[in-house]
Amino acid sequence: MVAEGFEEGAYGHDEATGLRAIVAVHSTVLGPALGGTRFYPYADEESALVDVCRLAKGMTYKHAAAGLHQGGGKAVIIGDPKVLRSDALITAYARFVDGLAGRYVTAEDVGTTQADMDLVRSVTPHVAGVSESLGGSGDPSPATALGVLWAMRAVAEHLWGSSSLEGKHVCISGVGKVGSALADHLHEAGARLTVSDVRPEAVAAVVERTGAATVDPAGAHRVACDLFSPCALGAVLNESTIPELGCAAVCGSANNQLATPEDGDRARAAGVLYAPDYVVNAGGVINIAEERHGYDRARAEASIARIYETTRAVLALAEREGCTPAEAADRYAEARLDEARRAAQPS
Ligand code: NAD
Repeated sequence: MVAEGFEEGAYGHDEATGLRAIVAVHSTVLGPALGGTRFYPYADEESALVDVCRLAKGMTYKHAAAGLHQGGGKAVIIGDPKVLRSDALITAYARFVDGLAGRYVTAEDVGTTQADMDLVRSVTPHVAGVSESLGGSGDPSPATALGVLWAMRAVAEHLWGSSSLEGKHVCISGVGKVGSALADHLHEAGARLTVSDVRPEAVAAVVERTGAATVDPAGAHRVACDLFSPCALGAVLNESTIPELGCAAVCGSANNQLATPEDGDRARAAGVLYAPDYVVNAGGVINIAEERHGYDRARAEASIARIYETTRAVLALAEREGCTPAEAADRYAEARLDEARRAAQPS
């Protein structure tokens, strides 16, 4: 059912609540498969299956590169959450996850909420990212923002020989949960900021706290700056935006920043260093993974700081092997998976 190279796929149906869910476990080589539940009105089961497999594989790579003892998995619930969601449906979904006996650990994603995960926890222990009141790690956004900051320090070290961000000009596109927390960190680190968002009130709040300059969302990628930080939408780096980039490097939290794999080559040819999104934005998953040992914020923050070394290693690998940083990130993750597979083989 799932694509070749996947370990497991499972369908969960519940007629009474209208639940139609698919779990894809791509790899448990590094540990139980962790990944969020996307609740989305897919056109049909086939497109839901394609998406869940793509996302699950992405989680394997993200966890491997982040040095976590977690595999890659993902779940989708088919339907419009605004229409279909009910406590009974989420409870039925939790029973389905429970039946997988911990091979898949779920979490929040687009279309599901922390309250949904809290409800899932009342049925099964195989869920992460629950509320702090339940012993969870809470909202992952501050952790993600902290991770982006560490990645930016690694980029600065790679390009300019110092991890200091003092005096660097950073343009952030999207000052929502992650982007606004990142703006605060950068302000504290002495960076000069330009910010942009489609919500004027979000921009105003950051300007008030940090004195940032502002730019129209459509023009954010053109700002002449040291670092451009996409913290809103995916596919920001594409055939039309790359020739217009005004930055030396791109380093942000948004998922899937490259519209196509070729855009990684385009950015490189344009002389722009692209710090791979799934390495940069791993702070949230590192934070959630800490729940396995009993969540402790100070320990989680120390783990998030690893993103600095990982980003440096990936950028150095790209330079050594003459490939794009995106390709280097995949190779870095694959090397860790290969090592774990070899270690698991009987000698
Ligand atoms: P969010 O919804 O809180 O913030 C996104 C912001 O982008 C909003 O303020 C929105 O108004 C703005 N925006 C929308 N369209 C825009 C546009 N065209 N130009 C400029 N701004 C625009 O989301 P978030 O949690 O801050 O996440 C930001 C990005 O980081 C997303 O792509 C998300 O998938 C990714 N990410 C987030 C986390 C996390 O822990 N929250 C972890 C990994 C990756």
